[in-house]
Order: sequence, then structure tokens, then C-alpha cells
Amino acid sequence: MIGLLPIKGYGLPQELIEDLKRNLDAYFGEFGLNVELMPEIDIKPFLDSYNELRGQFLASTMAYRIARVRGDFKALLGITDVDLYERGMNFVFGVAIPPLRSAIISIYRLDPRFYRKPYNYEKLGERTLKEAVHELGHVFGLPHCPNPKCVMHFSNSIFDTDFKGWRFCEKCEEKIKYNIDRLTEGRGND
Ligand SMILES: [Zn+2]
Ligand SMILES: [Zn+2]
Repeated sequence: MIGLLPIKGYGLPQELIEDLKRNLDAYFGEFGLNVELMPEIDIKPFLDSYNELRGQFLASTMAYRIARVRGDFKALLGITDVDLYERGMNFVFGVAIPPLRSAIISIYRLDPRFYRKPYNYEKLGERTLKEAVHELGHVFGLPHCPNPKCVMHFSNSIFDTDFKGWRFCEKCEEKIKYNIDRLTEGRGND
């Protein structure tokens, strides 16, 4: 089971979260993992990750906290709408901590309005799915992929995100299948 945890900053669009849940469930179902949508929680417990000077949240400390959520999850993915950063980077779309099998993504810079473009639900949804699959790929042990169309390709900017697809390339798919099989081996159905 993969846990999807909405973390509300300003306000997460419910439809977007439900569509993401459905799409992740269908895709990771192919690898034998289902997705459970958890009740939305508030950003308040994460305020210690907030950097006032930058006006951003430190993504890795948020992912550490997400990892503490209880339950029999093979992966935990937080999704929020506040802006995220990492040390040495202006921003990140998301981050993963593979040893803890937790990750977080933000829709803050996936929304076309951030780039002064009109609101576009489909585009936002597609970008969100790509970043979610990407971080979950890291959680299940995949490194970045040199194939620019593969979802595991590193996104330096929103252009990279828009260029790549939302699926793993053949090589990455082979690897993740192997890793997930090893993870769920002998533990019955997940
Ligand atoms: Zn990455
Ligand atoms: Zn790949």
C-alpha cells in the first residue's frame, strides 16, 4: 500500500487530489501496489520546517516527519501547496528519502498561474502526476534517468517537467518492478 497524505497550506484542490489518487492507484497497481488516500492534515505541525526569510518550507524535514505516520505502508507521499526548497537550491518540486520510504511534492510551482499563465486544470494535474510518480520512483530505489522522456529524468525547471512523460521508461520500469517485488516478497498481498 502507498499512502497519499494531503497537507493543506493555502488550500489543496480536492478534485486534483482525488484524480491523483486514482491515477497513481491505476499505475502502481500494475506493480502490485494500491494507493490509500489519507485524511487531509494541516500545515501547522510542519511549521518548524518553515524558513521565514525564504518564505519556503524545507522539503526534507517535512518528508522526515511524514515518515513517522503509522500504518503498513510501503511508501508515504505527502502533497502540499506551499513552496518547497532544499539547501543549495532555490526551490524543489519535491523530495524523497528512500531509506524512510517517504516523499513530498508541492503543486506550488506546478500551477500555470505561478508562471503568469491562465489556470489550466489538465496541465496542473499532469504535472502533479509526473512529480508524484518521480518521487515515488526514488522511494522505490530509482536514480535519475538520462532519458529525457522518462518520468525519472531530473526536472530543473517546469519545461523539463512538461517535456517528460508521466511513466517510467522500459529500463526504469524493469528496475522498479524488481525493487517492489523484493519489498513485498513473502509478505502476502499489499
Ligand atoms: Zn529526482
Ligand atoms: Zn528511465
